[in-house]
Amino acid sequence: VGMSFDLGRRGFLGLGPRRRVRALDDVSLEIGHGEILGLVGESGSGKSTLGRLIVGLYRPSEGQIRFARQATRHEGPHAVDLGAQIVFQNPSGSLNPRQRVRDIIAEPLIVHKADHDIAARVGELMRQVGLPPDFAERRPSEMSGGQAQRVGIARALALEPELIVCDEPISALDVSIQAQVLNLFADIQEQTGCSYLFISHDLPVVERLSHRVAIMYLGRIVEIAATSELFSRPAHPYTRALIASAPRLEAKKLSFRPVEGEIPSPIDPPRGCHFHPRCPLATDRCRSERPEAREVSPGHLSACHLDM
Ligand code: SF4
Ligand code: MG
Repeated sequence: VGMSFDLGRRGFLGLGPRRRVRALDDVSLEIGHGEILGLVGESGSGKSTLGRLIVGLYRPSEGQIRFARQATRHEGPHAVDLGAQIVFQNPSGSLNPRQRVRDIIAEPLIVHKADHDIAARVGELMRQVGLPPDFAERRPSEMSGGQAQRVGIARALALEPELIVCDEPISALDVSIQAQVLNLFADIQEQTGCSYLFISHDLPVVERLSHRVAIMYLGRIVEIAATSELFSRPAHPYTRALIASAPRLEAKKLSFRPVEGEIPSPIDPPRGCHFHPRCPLATDRCRSERPEAREVSPGHLSACHLDM
């Protein structure tokens, strides 16, 4: 898919040229049934844009998002053919402050005219995410961030989606409860067999949870591989620099240098390889020619001109 946003007219008296930002550039991804795909990148890389596109909050400028139902998937009585749901980064901000928990969780069931006992289903969802029954009467302001995020997860699960986009779902939470909520995501995946696109900039979290990992840089996927392969044999210079920058990946530092400098603006991205201004290995070819993704080993793709 590709995704451009129109920024409108800028400049003196608003008479400048129209500016467009290319948030996603020729991104191609497949997520398997029951798979957890980690999506990693710095802020501004396009991760959230891709997540919002997948759940239909944005329409792609080019390309398409397709859902292929799995014939053998166990489908409960609450499944609605919706494709994907999303869990947002900021749990309190994504919940209506005036609604009570039971109404927040019931909303997708009502909107999609789910044909069953809504109160019973809300109770079941609250149990599934570890919320005590008396929380049904609370409002978002009467809960901690972790509890609010459990409500957001219950809402996302209500219609038994095939795929849940998790957009930095633990990064706004207290460090002390991040592990609990991460475990909840793992348990839910095991119980329901759904897939996740798990968006994060936290490499240790992604390493722990994901089956495969995709690395994004300035609107492009630059590397994708099985998790153990990606962390033990990263091929792309950007991935190597990210791993070297991750404070909690002590054993994985290998001999790479941390990533330096800032991610450039997507309004006017560098030519050729987008990473070339920050890449210690850049050559003239990198400054002019866009690297295509190449298979460095089975299932491991890297978009770099050099042979690693
Ligand atoms: Fe670095 Fe060139 Fe590879 Fe881009 S294509 S990551 S600039 S070596
Ligand atoms: Mg984001």
